[in-house]
Amino acid sequence: MDAVDYQQLLSDAMAAARRTVGTGRVADYIPALAAADPDAFGMALATVEGEVFGVGAWEQPFSIQSISKLFTLALVLAEGGDAVWQRVGREPSGNPFNSLVQLETEQGIPRNPFINAGAIVVTDHLHSLTGGAAHAVREFLRAESGNPMLGTDWEVAASETEHGHRNAALAHFIASHGNLLNPVETVLDEYYAHCAIAASCADLALAGRFLARYGLRADDTRLLSRSDAKRVNAVLLTCGTYDAAGEFAFRVGLPGKSGVGGGVLAILPGRAALCAWGPGLDRAGNSVGAVAALDAFTTASGLSVF
Ligand code: GLU
Repeated sequence: MDAVDYQQLLSDAMAAARRTVGTGRVADYIPALAAADPDAFGMALATVEGEVFGVGAWEQPFSIQSISKLFTLALVLAEGGDAVWQRVGREPSGNPFNSLVQLETEQGIPRNPFINAGAIVVTDHLHSLTGGAAHAVREFLRAESGNPMLGTDWEVAASETEHGHRNAALAHFIASHGNLLNPVETVLDEYYAHCAIAASCADLALAGRFLARYGLRADDTRLLSRSDAKRVNAVLLTCGTYDAAGEFAFRVGLPGKSGVGGGVLAILPGRAALCAWGPGLDRAGNSVGAVAALDAFTTASGLSVF
């Protein structure tokens, strides 16, 4: 399609990210994540045509955490679950990802699908539509990445369950407002099981490609209408990177979703999906190295949505 040297751009982006090594803190509120190597880094890009490029530890699995929320939302919409928009909003929250305060003032309707409260509602919706929310996410990721080994790291899921008092509080609060269809324990189990999926930058770039292809899956069947693909990308841009979506849009200029495992999946509509990973996080919860690398990539190439 074009003569862009993606491999060179990724190498340069990694060099930029290397300068941030040692800054940022590995998430330790989930004890099983605290052991991640703060110096690790990887980045991969999958083009709309299916070519994959990578640098660093681009094939090493890591905990995808909140990146899974992009897939739960897409799968709900793919299952005809438009009614989910009556249960969750689509405005940036301006609050930390696990905040309880807003939920109280807004009567149990979470502000957007990517804060924890919203993702819990979307997981609940997907579970009702499919009978297995985490299973649906795993199967989708396996099919799109072509990696049948991809799956949930049950040690991480157990660690989240054990230390998930805040998520449990959010879920109970949502249930108290009548905004959960399934039992709290079921929804939390499903939520942790998809957050704790381990996947590599290459897996995630391939799995995110449907958003760069305006809704088309790897096998050319349609997952989302063009309009829904546009909408998911829009919510990613405005709400996908915690309470720093403005800063991310300013620096990177792409829709993206981050997770506290240190991954960031970003979409370049019409061209590619990119995933960068580095476990050291900034105060908002975004990977310092991954954001630096994506910033360097879009700044050097001029490839962004703007
Ligand atoms: N499973 C994590 C939690 O619920 C997801 C956090 C994240 O990546 O934002 O806290």
